[in-house]
Amino acid sequence: MYLHPPERLDELLDDEPPYRARQLRDWLYRTPVRTTDEMTNLPAPLRARLADRHWPFSVDTELVTPEGDTRKWLLRAPDGATIETVLMGYRGRTTICVSTQVGCAMGCTFCATGQFGFERHLAAGEIVAQVAWANAVLGADPLPGAPPRVTNVVFMGMGEPLANYDEVREAIRRLVELVGMSARSITVSTVGIVPGIRQLAAEPWPVTLAISLHAVDDETRSEIVPINRRYPIDDLVAAGREYFDRTGRRVSLEWTLIAGTNDTPETARRLAGIARRMRAHVNVIPLNPTPRSSSRPPDRATIDRFVAVLRRAGVRATLRATRGRGIEAACGQLRVRRSEEPLTLDGPVA
Ligand code: SF4
Repeated sequence: MYLHPPERLDELLDDEPPYRARQLRDWLYRTPVRTTDEMTNLPAPLRARLADRHWPFSVDTELVTPEGDTRKWLLRAPDGATIETVLMGYRGRTTICVSTQVGCAMGCTFCATGQFGFERHLAAGEIVAQVAWANAVLGADPLPGAPPRVTNVVFMGMGEPLANYDEVREAIRRLVELVGMSARSITVSTVGIVPGIRQLAAEPWPVTLAISLHAVDDETRSEIVPINRRYPIDDLVAAGREYFDRTGRRVSLEWTLIAGTNDTPETARRLAGIARRMRAHVNVIPLNPTPRSSSRPPDRATIDRFVAVLRRAGVRATLRATRGRGIEAACGQLRVRRSEEPLTLDGPVA
């Protein structure tokens, strides 16, 4: 039903009275439930008739960290496409990382999804349904110490959100207008589709923009993030600055720290210069290694030195802990593994 426009749900309801569409919309977006049986104010025959149309995917695999604070789902659409969704609990915050495409065409060298290639875009309903599914599960089974409802959505899973602009835009609209989230709690992450950044700046929802930068010179960046050949760093920095000027929202620069590639103090100094030009803050994320790539994160001392240089240069920098390493939580990892070998539910998996 998430694939159906939410304002036209009456088309699924035949002879039901008009208020049923509103009731159904609430069950899908406001207070989602796992099964139509739980939609208690709908008549039983209607619930049964809608049961097969409830979710646009089934849960293929669920993995949970031993601490229980991170859950990852591999979801399977009826056409066989698989996507990943990760749910992370913190004190006062429950964050979901959603996918926007099946696979990705951007080909970033350090990313498991990029190594898979592109299959198809996700529809807005498939994107929002990931959040709704999480809310349905959290209602009965919250993450320890975290709110029993998604408080933050990050478009950072499989796919490049701005390469699927219209569907992502519609997903944001539904999250704000129907799910009731604030635009500020939604983060759209891009590897640098410059026209998409400008389009997003003109939308009525001031979402947070995160730009995955990863390199300070075009030669290095084009090697690890090939879209840089089309939208080089100077253009990207200008678009990021425009985003800040138009929306008043500070941009986040995402920096995946890769040993031997982008981890020197000199690189940190140049990154600080870019961040200051954009008025951005920097999120440093040590690489979560993928099975098919030889890239590795730097050692702890190198990581700390990198962050210290940024801070000394007056840049707000956060070192992000990597969550769920044992459950292949980095984008695309579970899907890669699923395609290569049977998944065994042992070790760190609950
Ligand atoms: S990092 Fe993002 S944009 Fe790059 S290949 Fe992976 S999913 Fe695509």
